[in-house]
Amino acid sequence: MRRQLLPLSLLALALAACTPAPDRDAAPTDTAPAPATAGTGAAPAPTDADDNLNAVLWVQRSVEYKATLLSLFRAAADHLDAAIAEPNWDALVPDERDNADTFSSLPPAVIMDIDETVLDNSPYQARLIADGEEYDEVSWAEWVAERKAEPVPGVVDFARAATERGVTVLYISNRAQHLNEATLANLRDKGLPVKDESVFLGLGTHVPGCEQHGSEKLCRRRVAGRDYRVIMQFGDQIGDFVQVVANTAEARDGLLEAYGDWFGERWWMLPNPTYGSWEPAEFNNAWDQPREQRRAAKRDALQLAR
Ligand SMILES: [Mg+2]
Repeated sequence: MRRQLLPLSLLALALAACTPAPDRDAAPTDTAPAPATAGTGAAPAPTDADDNLNAVLWVQRSVEYKATLLSLFRAAADHLDAAIAEPNWDALVPDERDNADTFSSLPPAVIMDIDETVLDNSPYQARLIADGEEYDEVSWAEWVAERKAEPVPGVVDFARAATERGVTVLYISNRAQHLNEATLANLRDKGLPVKDESVFLGLGTHVPGCEQHGSEKLCRRRVAGRDYRVIMQFGDQIGDFVQVVANTAEARDGLLEAYGDWFGERWWMLPNPTYGSWEPAEFNNAWDQPREQRRAAKRDALQLAR
């Protein structure tokens, strides 16, 4: 759930953007009326719109989301043998690879983000919508402690295919350190491979010779590359794959232009419409703006025509 590209101090504000929206997003008047509930004793449904309602519902209920992930992980599994066989196949960008001359002899590994890449936290977000609450670290920690997050569709089968081929699954996550034990237990309980704690590179991982900046994952990718040939990376944020120096739409587009060919072979991006660094890129990452100002910037960013 942690925003991958933001300083930790901005995380709560980042998730605050997923909170109930004003009435202007209410259902259009030309839709069919809802079934009457009079006489049932049921409380009337909340009418406040929520910026995250459709996104969370799509993740939880649509066959389209499930089919997308199943397709992605099956395709990734189909690439495993070729990736293992090609000694120069590397999913780290050259700037993040310290041992370009020797990495090809290292054992293969894949790097996986956890939240919305391996584990599905949509029940937590659904809880926030149902309760009219906003993200905060206390409720998030309570959710993690429940260890109820399910694997996203297809990931367990992919991880099994990888481990059967001798590929180590590494996890790079920005969950807070005090959540490590619950996170590892959740992964194991749901059938994800965790051969030992060395495969988990969480916040606070010390990487000699690499200066850590906030929750940026650069140093942890770098240290993974010292022990492994990283044949694939999986994430739901571009910062899961490569350092994002400036979180602007233009810079992000530039990364896609530079590494677009890697997607579907070395990099595998999972859809996450519910939160992510794409959102603050539309309002200059200025989380200190009032919510309505941020929403106005996002509406201004809508492309009505090209
Ligand atoms: Mg994630």
